Amino acid sequence: MAGRIPQSFIDELLARTDIVDLIDGFVPLKKMGKDFKACCPFHDEKTPSFTVSQNKQFYHCFGCGANGTAISFLMEYSHLEFLEAIEEMANKAGLTIPEEVGQPRADGNLSELYELLELVVRFYCKQLREHRQTDRAVDYLKNRGISGEVAKQFELGYAPAGWDNLIQALGTSDAAQQRLARTGMIIKRDNGGYYDRFRDRIMFPIRDPRGRVIGFGGRVLDDDTPKYLNSPETAIYHKGRELYGLYQARRANKDLQRLYVVEGYMDVIALAQYGISNAVASLGTATTREHLERLFRATPQVVFCFDGDQAGARAATRAMETALPLLEEGRQVFFKFLPEGQDPDDYIRQKGTKAFQNLSDLTPLSDYMINIAKDGIDLSSVEGRSLFLKNIRPRLELIPEGVIKQLNVQHIEKITGLSADKIDIRTKSKDQPLPRRRPLYKSDSGKMTNTSWLIAMLLRQPDLALLVEKPEILTQSKEPGVDTLHKMIVLIQEIPRITTGQILERWRESRLNNRLHELSSTEILDDENINLSNDFLHRIDTIAAEIKTATRKTGETNLADASEEHKAYLRNLQK
Ligand SMILES: [Zn+2]
Repeated sequence: MAGRIPQSFIDELLARTDIVDLIDGFVPLKKMGKDFKACCPFHDEKTPSFTVSQNKQFYHCFGCGANGTAISFLMEYSHLEFLEAIEEMANKAGLTIPEEVGQPRADGNLSELYELLELVVRFYCKQLREHRQTDRAVDYLKNRGISGEVAKQFELGYAPAGWDNLIQALGTSDAAQQRLARTGMIIKRDNGGYYDRFRDRIMFPIRDPRGRVIGFGGRVLDDDTPKYLNSPETAIYHKGRELYGLYQARRANKDLQRLYVVEGYMDVIALAQYGISNAVASLGTATTREHLERLFRATPQVVFCFDGDQAGARAATRAMETALPLLEEGRQVFFKFLPEGQDPDDYIRQKGTKAFQNLSDLTPLSDYMINIAKDGIDLSSVEGRSLFLKNIRPRLELIPEGVIKQLNVQHIEKITGLSADKIDIRTKSKDQPLPRRRPLYKSDSGKMTNTSWLIAMLLRQPDLALLVEKPEILTQSKEPGVDTLHKMIVLIQEIPRITTGQILERWRESRLNNRLHELSSTEILDDENINLSNDFLHRIDTIAAEIKTATRKTGETNLADASEEHKAYLRNLQK
């Protein structure tokens, strides 16, 4: 997503926004030494360990490990998506977000796709009201108990039967047809021309968290197949990321205490019909990590509520496995298991809103994990307990170090009667409270590689990079991380006044993002006895020396492998 906004704009935004001013607007900060401090907004504490550095344009909590740039702060504190945070900062700074540039030509301008899809929404809504065959669609909605108000709230529409209704309405020129094809709403025929993708279906527009229409789902009116059809992946629609109903849920609830994740569009709408305005559906895929991260930005509590059938049970197991690595303090995951054969729509019709919202029948994620692992096992026998441990260990290991993992280990200790070391789960001592998010590297220096140290130093004091005379030599190293180190040095040499925050934003979409955040919080570097410049150069020299040794070794190997004749020749050359 970051790719859609030019890096130069993100740089400018961060340059114009002082992270101290920004955070001070939400959490009053006090100047202490060279940094600013407050009690952490992300965990409970009495003495301030939340630190904001004006130099680095970076915040870090020594208590829970929360850290990041001005953009990350808005995302975490105000529960915003990346683009929303950018928008809010741009508004405050009086900057206009530039139109997407640097997209491949074939993609053209994405905003025209969004505009076109708005017209498509209007078109299908109009057909639901006016088309001569609309009675079937309206009857279908009535039979499902969907009122006109709810249909209007979710902008339900009707795609009439026939191959070219949309093309006739919105694709009258070649250029218009090409644009429609880029939204996925019409499909190119092999022998030229196009046809409508959605025919004789109830249409559900899908909006992203900013409210832009990015695609559609369509449902048949009878028992035809496929029952549901979704937009294909396009430049603006990525099904593994989007959640149907999230935009509406956020609009209907200022403070989302909980979000239900259900399987389909009709479940979201049926629940809304019964006054439950906080349900979302993934779009024909299993719950992904991106879905969950998006959910947790909007709410602290996620309740999976899948159909009471085998597919629903499989979806629940997969959702559990996706959620385990994302568990941290302050995030809760529950399952609501429905009676056999029922979906949320059936359930709420039969039992009503109160029963659906009843919290006492929710199964916490941890209990579900344990239930699955002990299913069919006799825990009173030694063999049973050992089998149970074998089942649960890989799942337990997915949970990040922290309080939640400790509680689970304790629970399993109780079930099996074994102590944590016998359970043999990689976990830290439970006497010391562990950080909520990412590990700190307080006194961990032994565990950091030379390259990690160098990157940590650069993130603390970027101008160290200016000391490196020939960064290109680093490209010859095969050590992990040296390529990142090299990139960072070159970047700082190009933009000498760059801040830590600006550097980190360049890696936001990278798998290294979390690691770089950890490194920028490395505390030992605050030891004033270390001469950073000397240490930095010494460490760079170490890498250079390793490269030389490696090159020489390769030379020797070649020598040994060459034929006698060649050996003599090479020896002469090397004299
Ligand atoms: Zn904290």
